Amino acid sequence: MRFTFVTLFKSLVEGYFSDSILSRAIDKDIIDVDYLNPRDYSQNKHQKVDDTAFGGGAGMVMYPQPLWDALEDLKKQNEDVYIIFLTPVAKQFVQNDAKRLSKKSHIAFVSGRYEGIDERIIENFADEVFSIGDYILTGGELPSLVMCDAISRNVDGVLGNSDSLSVESFESSLLEAPTFSKPQVYNEMEVPSEFLKGNHSKIRSLKLSLSESKTKFFRPKQLLKHKAEQRLS
Ligand code: SAM
Repeated sequence: MRFTFVTLFKSLVEGYFSDSILSRAIDKDIIDVDYLNPRDYSQNKHQKVDDTAFGGGAGMVMYPQPLWDALEDLKKQNEDVYIIFLTPVAKQFVQNDAKRLSKKSHIAFVSGRYEGIDERIIENFADEVFSIGDYILTGGELPSLVMCDAISRNVDGVLGNSDSLSVESFESSLLEAPTFSKPQVYNEMEVPSEFLKGNHSKIRSLKLSLSESKTKFFRPKQLLKHKAEQRLS
């Protein structure tokens, strides 16, 4: 699967792929990452990519020409590229989106900077538009990385053990149960003893009740949904 980061600041993005799971996925040719800088397409003699906003207002806007030409060029290379714009006002990116988008062959993430991107570019090129949460960041690079990471984990072969996907939080209406590792007692805090006895059915039922408690604490509405689903099944 190919990811193209359309960004003015490649250096903010590329470090993320230099180590750990995504770096190994690149080495194994499971994912491929490249970059496109709208500044390289600017026809302005100083390679400007921003201009003042019509109607006034603070800050600069990414004006159409450089980004438009960059995206046209990308589409010429691969007309199937799926173009995603990052903007704080869009629908929020969730796990189901990560799973769905992991089936695409090529995704481009377009990062805004300054006060954002001229709306006409988004209207013309966006296949989808996402926010990663209700707060304003300085640019779309972090949101692009967040999405790329979450999508990549769902691409076949990226995780060493694909079983870890199926038990994770947001795969069902319950959150994943708390996890523990050795030692059994640490700073006088003990792992629940049932985990240590090797009775798998008891471990399963303990995990289920811990999952329910965790969901009740962090996502009470989700627990109600889970109970309703159980009543229907
Ligand atoms: N003026 C814009 C507004 O109020 O909606 C905010 C622009 S923000 C400073 C610059 C860029 O950062 C945006 O174009 C977008 O690409 C990115 N960005 C900031 N926060 C984001 C978020 N929560 N989710 C996705 N992208 C975000």
